[in-house]
Amino acid sequence: MYFTDFDFEDEVLDALDAMRFEKCTPIQEQTLQPLMEGRDLIGVAQTGTGKTAAYLLPVLNRLCQGGYPEDSINCVIMAPTRELAQQIDRQLEGFTYFMNVSSVAVYGGNDGQRYEQELRGMSKGADIIVATPGRLISHINLGNIDLSKVSFFILDEADRMLDMGFCNDIMTIAKQLPKERQTMLFSATMPQEIRKLASDILTDPLQITLALAKPADGITQQAYICHEGQKLGIINSIFDSESSERVILFASRKTKVKEISHTLKKHGFNVGEMHSDLSQSERDEIMFQYKSRKIDMIVATDILARGIDIDDIRIVINYDVPRDCDDYIHRIGRTARAGTKGRAITLVNVEDQEYFKRIEDFIEQDVPKLELPAAVGEAPAYEPKSKQKGGKSRHGGNGNKEKRGGGDRKRNNRKRGGKQANGYKPQNAKPESNSEKPKDTTPHQDNATKPQSEKPKRRPHHRRRKPGNAKGGDGTAPVAENK
Ligand code: AMP
Repeated sequence: MYFTDFDFEDEVLDALDAMRFEKCTPIQEQTLQPLMEGRDLIGVAQTGTGKTAAYLLPVLNRLCQGGYPEDSINCVIMAPTRELAQQIDRQLEGFTYFMNVSSVAVYGGNDGQRYEQELRGMSKGADIIVATPGRLISHINLGNIDLSKVSFFILDEADRMLDMGFCNDIMTIAKQLPKERQTMLFSATMPQEIRKLASDILTDPLQITLALAKPADGITQQAYICHEGQKLGIINSIFDSESSERVILFASRKTKVKEISHTLKKHGFNVGEMHSDLSQSERDEIMFQYKSRKIDMIVATDILARGIDIDDIRIVINYDVPRDCDDYIHRIGRTARAGTKGRAITLVNVEDQEYFKRIEDFIEQDVPKLELPAAVGEAPAYEPKSKQKGGKSRHGGNGNKEKRGGGDRKRNNRKRGGKQANGYKPQNAKPESNSEKPKDTTPHQDNATKPQSEKPKRRPHHRRRKPGNAKGGDGTAPVAENK
């Protein structure tokens, strides 16, 4: 289906044009219409499926149609981590470029300017706030925010928010909202606690379930069965014969990341590291260096496993085997984005064999095992002890239909006075999320009442409806993705 098949306002179609969104993803295809009609919805879908646009577009369309208070917060989007909040906010910025809709991200941290910016945005009544639960609760407790006019409430990655201990915070926030509202809950899994939460805060929801993402076809998966002490030799030999540019190497613990990064630097690799011990600005800097190709390789914890949207990562190396099958899919999904090709190489030591077998069972593929380079010695046999089932259960199918559509594109009825498209193509509007694993961080990391780093501003001429809106500046620095 095409976006033009839906009855979107001109501003929304202009934004889709500029973002070069043409065809709907399966989740969009299934959710846009009911959401545009105002249904509550449970969407079981992961990052990478296009779920952000699936919930943003109907809300933006309604806001463009008008009839919502200009000086109040009309929509609250909750996300588990500041990285995801930033990513959603960036996608929102891209979409709202042609609209008279304002937004502010509220995600904590420790920079006074950031805090002031959040306060300003909230007090001026940004249309949409994108918030992490802890930070929003802090603002509610301080009386900084009025949620009494909210019409749209969205929970993104709800299962992660619950995993991180935010259930009570979410309920507290939900109690601040009017009963008459549209609520959407997106979650990668549907454990009992999510069902309970959904029954508490949604009304007669439609449930759309997408199949759990399998590794993309463009990823060539390979593994080396090895001893722990052989891993570095394997990496050296891989990059003897090819470039080490555009590589991400994952390790499960930050101590390991630091160790590997240190060793690789000593071996002459041009490496940056990414883990939760770094400050936000340090992480921003690493991502900037990686994107601008000043560093070739990032060694990272699973902080970087989800959703970062760098298009041209060539190789993902799992220095160790993730314990969670979903993490494997997320890690290797950093390469072969958008239909391109990439490689995912997993180094499997003896202890990790059973976990790797679990992953193979989960993805229903035997990953080809490569011969060890002669220089590193002999490989152990691949004899995983048990074949226990791992990971989370698969979700139902989704029916990825694509039919050519040619709905009439609306060109009139600009009810909210939105600005015409001016040919600008948002450069940086792609979401670049990732969410930090709980094991690598403390659950209420965003719970600080301390102010935080100001969101890089990007567009000096970004028109906003409300004076004093927290966004709309400019900056050329790339936005940080992760902790
Ligand atoms: P999400 O699952 O919302 O994080 O989206 C994953 C990526 O897909 C993001 O880079 C989006 O900008 C992009 N995306 C989402 N929907 C579409 C679409 N219909 N056409 C092209 N790109 C899309």
